Amino acid sequence: MRRRTFLAGASGLTGGILLGRARGARAEAQRHRIAVVGRGPMGSAAARYLAEAGEDVIVVGPEEPADFARHPGPFASHYDEGRQAEFAAHNEGISRLSRASANAFRGLQAKTGVEFYRDHPNLWVMPRGFRTDYLDLDRCEALAKQLDETLVPLDDAGLAQRFPEFRFPADSRGLLEPRGGLINPRRMVQAQLAAARKAGATLVADDVVALNRRPGAIELATRGGETLRAERVLVATGGFTNASRMLERRLALSLHGVTVVLVEAPSEPRPEIPSVTFVVGGKAGPRTGFAMPPLRYPDGRYYLKGATASSVDSLLDDGGLVPWYRGAGAREDGPQLVALLREVLPSFVPGEVRTLPCMVAYTPSGLPYVDRVDERVGIAVGGNACGVMTSDELGRLAAAMMRDAPWTGPLGAELFSARFA
Ligand SMILES: Cc1cc2nc3c(=O)[nH]c(=O)nc-3n(C[C@H](O)[C@H](O)[C@H](O)COP(=O)(O)OP(=O)(O)OC[C@H]3O[C@@H](n4cnc5c(N)ncnc54)[C@H](O)[C@@H]3O)c2cc1C
Repeated sequence: MRRRTFLAGASGLTGGILLGRARGARAEAQRHRIAVVGRGPMGSAAARYLAEAGEDVIVVGPEEPADFARHPGPFASHYDEGRQAEFAAHNEGISRLSRASANAFRGLQAKTGVEFYRDHPNLWVMPRGFRTDYLDLDRCEALAKQLDETLVPLDDAGLAQRFPEFRFPADSRGLLEPRGGLINPRRMVQAQLAAARKAGATLVADDVVALNRRPGAIELATRGGETLRAERVLVATGGFTNASRMLERRLALSLHGVTVVLVEAPSEPRPEIPSVTFVVGGKAGPRTGFAMPPLRYPDGRYYLKGATASSVDSLLDDGGLVPWYRGAGAREDGPQLVALLREVLPSFVPGEVRTLPCMVAYTPSGLPYVDRVDERVGIAVGGNACGVMTSDELGRLAAAMMRDAPWTGPLGAELFSARFA
């Protein structure tokens, strides 16, 4: 199947709730209190909190492109059916943001009727003694203890007993997070935008090509040729923020191309696996793999979504973003992941394999930036590969910041200060 068909269903998901140019033209004449640029996980959550607080808010962002290969950009990091929610894997800030977001996701589901979140276990398995900056099971256990999250340590016997379908090498160390979560990011954005619109937000399906700071209002020039006006602007444009040049200074962000590997799974029986991150030995050194349980994609088929660590090295600059997204990612990751799955999940029969491009935006602090960069412009940017699971709470904080409302919660505002390149 060609990519166009594969993604078309995804666009249709949100198509019904985004306004096109006609409504956009009416929005053009008006000056809004706050414009949110970017309707990804962070922007859509902030827009909902702003609208529900009674603010006059306009959200501007493009729909998911139907044909990546011809799209001029921008792209986004959430065009997918599956993301993990982890509660003791990264640092204290991410864990607290995730837990607060997961609690809010349940309320959002109930309010909108859009199902996008469920409990689902996370599992980490690696050779005993193995540790990197990113994968550190001692750190996870310490975090869990500090935050009263549950992590269950598993040795070889425990792994074999709990997960008989897996074959991990001898002397592995496992950690199970029984109350992890599984998020459908496309549906999550759909839910946030539906709730925002219900609370009065105006949505415009277009992208912003310039922010012009005028006395009295900021003018947002869109690719479609409109000029929107707002007193304040929240920029939530993910990894495209620096490339868009909307801010007067470049943010310190490092952008990494990540290749998503989709391995078609038989529709029945599908393996019931946790979201698993694993490291196994190899002649050329340790090999890292990641796999989620098979999820239904817009083409109606089930895919086990995974990745290897190979593409973490691919650093992208402004000019490299669009070419990266127009391609297929690192194609070699497909056979590499399948080979890893054959080793650790031998009963799984892989079907068609495809690779897709994605991107993660890291900040030096390991936490997103939620900050005002000048009197009228704020940002919510820098997911650090955790921007879906943390998005609701980040949206709440960003909305409070834009409204001059008190910053509340256990994490101080200074943790989210912007750093510049
Ligand atoms: C392969 C992969 C796996 C991941 N796994 C996880 C996971 O398990 N859990 C997790 O929490 N996170 C995960 N992440 C990270 C997560 O997807 C991102 O952190 C998250 O999508 C960031 O949200 P965002 O709103 O900042 O940016 P984005 O998702 O990129 O959204 C930004 C939005 O801004 C819009 N935009 C950009 N430029 C403009 C413009 N000029 N005008 C208007 N709109 C614009 C885009 O169209 C988009 O809608 C993963 C990422 C990848 C690539």
